[in-house]
Parts: sequence; C-alpha cells; structure tokens
Amino acid sequence: MNRPHPNTVCVEAGSHNPTAGDPVSEPLHLSTTYRHGGDYEYIREASPTIEAFERAVGALEAGQAVAFSSGMAASAAVLDGLAPGSRVVAPTVGYKGVRRLLADRDTVGALDVSYVDQTDTATAIDAIGDAKLVWAESPNNPLIGITDLRALADAAHERGARLAVDATLATPLLQRSLELGADFVVHSATKYIAGHSDSLLGVVVCADEDGARALTARRAMTGAVPGPFETFLGLRGIRTLALRVERSQDNAVELAGRLAGHPAVSRVRYPGLDDDPGHELATRQMSGFGAMIAFEVGAGSEAADAVCAGVERIANATSLGGVETLIERRGRYPGEGEHVPANLIRLSVGCEHVDDLWDDLERALDGA
Ligand SMILES: *Cc1c(COP(=O)(O)O)cnc(C)c1O
Repeated sequence: MNRPHPNTVCVEAGSHNPTAGDPVSEPLHLSTTYRHGGDYEYIREASPTIEAFERAVGALEAGQAVAFSSGMAASAAVLDGLAPGSRVVAPTVGYKGVRRLLADRDTVGALDVSYVDQTDTATAIDAIGDAKLVWAESPNNPLIGITDLRALADAAHERGARLAVDATLATPLLQRSLELGADFVVHSATKYIAGHSDSLLGVVVCADEDGARALTARRAMTGAVPGPFETFLGLRGIRTLALRVERSQDNAVELAGRLAGHPAVSRVRYPGLDDDPGHELATRQMSGFGAMIAFEVGAGSEAADAVCAGVERIANATSLGGVETLIERRGRYPGEGEHVPANLIRLSVGCEHVDDLWDDLERALDGA
C-alpha cells in the first residue's frame, strides 16, 4: 500500500497489526503491574495504552515519541538531559510556564539560560555560541510569531548544539519539525492532540531511538509518566485531529480577516494574513497557519478586558487547542513578560460555526 496521508495516519495510527478477533479501538489498560515473564512489568516503565499513544504521535511526526504527564513534564525531561551548568538559548517570547522553568533552573545554577528574539533569524543564530541546547517555540505563544527552524537547526548543529522545538501551536500536522532539523519536538498534548480540554498530557518526539530510550529511562526515574486514561483520551483525540485542525483553521483564517477589518482592533497577529511578519516563513515552513490568533484592542487593556468579559458563547479561559473557542487577555498574568502588549487578546479558535463566533466577537468589540 502507498504511504498514507496524514489524516489517514490520524485515524489508523497506534493500533497493533490487526488479527481476527482483535478489538477495532485500542483498549484502555489501567493495570499498574503485570504478571512476571511477559512484555510488561510495572507501569512507570511501560504500559500498552501509553505505548499506543506513543506509536500514534511517533507515526505523525515520523520519530520516536515518549509520552509524559504534561507538556511541562515533557519540557523538563528534555532539559534534564543536559549536564549541570549547560548553556541554553531560549526565546524571549514563548509559553510562560517553560520560561519560568528555565528561569528556575538558571537561578539554582542547573542551567545557564540566555534569551533572544528567535523571530529575528540572524540574532537568534548569533546567540547560539557555545550553547548545548537551543529551545525554540514556533508558532510562539502568545504572539503567534514564527521562527526559521531550518536555519536555527543548521546553525545549532554546526556549533554542536541540539534543537528542541515546542510545536504545540503547530500540531504534528502543520509543521514537520523533525524534517526541519529539530532533535526533539515537544507538544503539550493537553492542547490540540487530545483536543477536548479534558486531559493533561505531554509528549517528546525524538529524531533517534537513543534519544527516546534516554527519555523513557528518565521518565521511569522521575515518575513523570502519564495516566493510561489520559493517553487513551489522547489517542482518541488523534483520531479526529486532522478534522479539528482543518475546521478550526478555516475558522481562524476567516476570523483573522474579519478582526483586521474591525475598527476597535488595532493589530491582528496571524501568520495567515499576507502582511503578517511571519507570513512568508510560515508559508514555507508550515502546511497551514493554525488556529491561534492574537489581536490588540486599540483602546487599551481595560477595553481588551471588556471584550473578554463581553463574549457570551466564547469562554474567557486560559488554555487552547480544544474544540471550543477560548479567549483571554494574556497580560493579566504578571509572568507574561514585557514583550506581550497589555492590550493583546489571544484567541484559540475552535470548531463552532464561524458566523456564531463572529456574532459573539463583533458584539463584544462593538460594546467595548
Ligand atoms: C500549555 C503549553 C505548555 C505546557 O503544557 P501543559 O500540558 O499545560 O503542561 C507548553 N508549551 C506550550 C506552547 C503550551 O501552550
């Protein structure tokens, strides 16, 4: 048979080679322990439901996936592979939990972290120096900025550094991070992969088996193993990932255009817009622009708060990547940092009908 298309991989991946009498959907194995002498011993080392999820993500990314209890646990596991005091280059704009983790490791002297604007390729490359790891996030959270991953991977490898990419916003479908040169791809599977805002889950995908083996061993030591039920839901989420990404992205393309035309909105950041600074790079590097939009409310942060309070269908809540549309003003978090404008709203566009979303948004914008 031909190599299947990604949406077919979503539907099929993770299942065992079928034989007569097998269940069609992957079963949920909750047992923490197994009778001695078989393939499994204890859940912290390996479990069949967790492995099914890992096979599916690995097939989508064309690498070796290791699942973790959260996106943060997955990120920490990558950092834990570095020798004490290693230099890490990280982005000035990126998920605030990971930036906090890096800052914490830096404070205790475990890592030496420097920050750079990775949407500026030349500056990002200059900053690598003697770093052991370059941490990137593309598209980034919450500014939806794009980093040239191929250029960063080549430059990192020339200098003996490895590249880890948090591709949560891209999903495994819109960006082939390993093919672009990443050594590790990290996903908060809590977001698009599980996709229903009901399971905390993370995953690291490695380019090589040695990397995955080391991560699996470290996961068994630290206990950052996901629950079987979460991986079951993650696998169930993957079955519809392509459908959800397609619909929410179609909605986002439409909403980004409508937002750009609304007088209360002073700026829309979405790589799908022709005049977005990341447009050209995203067109080259991704197979779609995703479903995350950031926009600024011209009248300021109080007006932005009023928009978030004014929507009725869209939930004013953090997180992203679920079937439902979520809105929030990121500046409401003290840790969000100086690079995120106070009037910036992040919109995670879901799978509702686009006109219902726009009715809600337009009314909130008109009233703010
Ligand atoms: C949510 C998120 C994380 C953290 O993942 P959790 O599953 O919440 O631990 C990391 N990176 C990005 C880009 C995220 O959006």
